[in-house]
Amino acid sequence: MEKIQMVDLHRQYARIKPEIDHAIEKVLTSTAFIQGPDVQEFAQALAGYLDVRAVIPCANGTDALQIAMMALGFRPGDEIILPVHTYVATAEVIALLGLTPVFAEVRADSFTLDPARLEEKITPRTVAIVPVHLYGQCADMEPLLHIAQKHNLHIIEDAAQALGADYTFSDKSVKKAGTMGTIGTTSFFPSKNLGCYGDGGALFTHDESLAARIKMIANHGQQVKYHHDLVGVNSRLDTLQAAILRVKLQYLDDYARRRNDAAVFYDRVLARVPQVTIPWRAPYSTHVYHQYTLQIGEGKRDALKQHLEQQGIPTMIYYPVPLHLQKAYRQADAGPGTFAITEKLSQTVLSLPIHTEMEASQLEYIGDAITRFF
Ligand SMILES: *Cc1c(COP(=O)(O)O)cnc(C)c1O
Repeated sequence: MEKIQMVDLHRQYARIKPEIDHAIEKVLTSTAFIQGPDVQEFAQALAGYLDVRAVIPCANGTDALQIAMMALGFRPGDEIILPVHTYVATAEVIALLGLTPVFAEVRADSFTLDPARLEEKITPRTVAIVPVHLYGQCADMEPLLHIAQKHNLHIIEDAAQALGADYTFSDKSVKKAGTMGTIGTTSFFPSKNLGCYGDGGALFTHDESLAARIKMIANHGQQVKYHHDLVGVNSRLDTLQAAILRVKLQYLDDYARRRNDAAVFYDRVLARVPQVTIPWRAPYSTHVYHQYTLQIGEGKRDALKQHLEQQGIPTMIYYPVPLHLQKAYRQADAGPGTFAITEKLSQTVLSLPIHTEMEASQLEYIGDAITRFF
């Protein structure tokens, strides 16, 4: 049995090495390291995959969120609603731009924004909602879109963990994660479902004039070189990463299938363990299992984590400290107890190894180790 890792990038690369090496070599020979042809070609291929009018690549997923908020012209003091159970990047860019992050509670089953508890967070200063499609499954977008429309708010979808996931609306129409709001964002960090070999990110939109604005902001606010119409940033996807992503995009659905196969195995074994809650499968979304996240009851989470570590099984806690209890993001009116579900999740969630190269023997070993612990 291979050594168990949270993500096995080495064996994933080995399987597509000739194609990747060829793509890299082509860039090295051309020396078009910045804005080479692969960047546009990848953007077009991803736009086709997502069925969205424009994909604008940038340097990472955090920049993508920041550029989205800059492009929508939010002003200091404007309020942005985001889930309190998420990665820090979302709150960080809001704070950096002088906007006000407003935390909202998630649902314990879906781990994503609870539409039923969102409207109470809306004030006259609210300008946007940022749903995060956490762990690989879409947030419940239909009610969120209704609320946004009713209050004239933008939706910026953080699809960094769910690229490729499908959301099904009540009229049976289907859309990809990141293509339902005003702007969608993603990250190509190596461990993400579509990961490059360094940093990368992108924004998606159906609105062509907004796409033009995003493109300008990502490139120093210029359309014509040395003519700066907007205050921008320098945020590019480099050509080597784009060339790698062009190859890997072809495998994205296969990668999701492989992750689903591992999840189905875990589900089958762990559904029999009463102290363990397996991930909920939302009726409205497919799951691409960026993470396979259990909830462990009875205060046993940390002991189980340690037990698995001793058996050579790595696990991770996403996320151990909720945003409203982080030193940098504390708010006067939101002490411990304010977000009971998120606070409980921070004590109970445990993500198991899941990636595109899981072996049956590894899955069996992990399943056995968990079953034997209880
Ligand atoms: C990874 C991630 C980001 C940030 O992406 P980077 O490319 O690391 O900047 C943002 N939001 C979520 C939910 C993420 O998982």
